Amino acid sequence: MAGVSKVRVVGRLRPTVNLAPQLRVLGDGKTIDIDFSKSGDGSRPPKTVDHQKKQFSFVLDDVLDMSASQEQVYSTCAADLVDAALEGINGTIFAYGMTGAGKTYTMSGSPSLSFGRRGLIPRVIQNIFQKIASNPSTITTIRVSFLEIYNEKLYDLIRPESKGLTIHESGDPSSSDSGSATSVKNLSMPLCQTEHDALDCLFQGETNRVIAAHRLNKNSTRSHCIFTIHISQRQSVGDRGDVIVSKLNLVDLAGSERVSKTGSEGVILKEANYINKSLSFLEQVVVALSDAKRTHIPYRQSKLTHFLQDSLGGNSKTTMVANISCIAPHLHETLSTLRFAERVMTI
Ligand code: ADP
Ligand code: MG
Repeated sequence: MAGVSKVRVVGRLRPTVNLAPQLRVLGDGKTIDIDFSKSGDGSRPPKTVDHQKKQFSFVLDDVLDMSASQEQVYSTCAADLVDAALEGINGTIFAYGMTGAGKTYTMSGSPSLSFGRRGLIPRVIQNIFQKIASNPSTITTIRVSFLEIYNEKLYDLIRPESKGLTIHESGDPSSSDSGSATSVKNLSMPLCQTEHDALDCLFQGETNRVIAAHRLNKNSTRSHCIFTIHISQRQSVGDRGDVIVSKLNLVDLAGSERVSKTGSEGVILKEANYINKSLSFLEQVVVALSDAKRTHIPYRQSKLTHFLQDSLGGNSKTTMVANISCIAPHLHETLSTLRFAERVMTI
């Protein structure tokens, strides 16, 4: 099977004035070092790891330092997936990291949305509509959806009143190497004629996410959010029957931080368990995809991987952004984010 696929891993450092002295990016722009022997503030490596080990070095495909602009993040992480999506290849970009590390800033941008601070999703939308406009020989239809997964339950962020959301697979053998296309029953997928229509759906969904979080008392950093751009293309002349469909998933994952079992109450612990499980299932799927001998990929273990089934591995492209906090109190979480990134890198 053509399931072997390399996930591109890009680290992005969140700007801070209090950079931990233990952390530095090497001049090659690909390596992050953490050296706990330098600790000025008594911070030590986590107890769970080898006590003797004080220096860690992680090599990723790219490291974007604190000064990286949102435009640079787009060109490094998304530009090639946008081109591939317009050629009919599914793609997924996910932002991984602890709460506060910059995942939402990377995917959506700052709420003020002054142009320079726009994140990946608005930039992907803008670029797709620009490319469509410059290609009149193809008739392209764009729909978008915005799904939230909280404690393994599905919510429609564009139309919050939607009920009964369930993941379906249609056995379309041409759709991907995983053999079927996934869709969500009852998830709204409004048609977007313009860039503006698609941006409206994004902003509306983000607003609904906040409102629902208040109403249902769920913490929005504890859910996974997936904005999907569904592309359908056919030639405006000639070969009329041929329709090429593809999609691009832009995923703002729940915070990866470990929640201490002692200090937490029921709800928080329950959320943490769901998050830990779904992130580790995501890793298992990515690892399984890298093994050419594996015929079974355990997509159905979680809603997240099940939803992404036709857009991870096989004939699709995946980029992981590891969002990194650079302050000393977060070094242990940063280490665990980089370990996850490293495991994804080695496949
Ligand atoms: P997360 O979604 O991972 O919890 P956020 O994206 O909400 O983290 O980032 C936390 C805060 O840091 C927000 O106020 C955000 O605007 C700010 N921030 C994150 N990354 C950057 C950046 N690269 N440049 C400027 N501000 C940033
Ligand atoms: Mg966030």
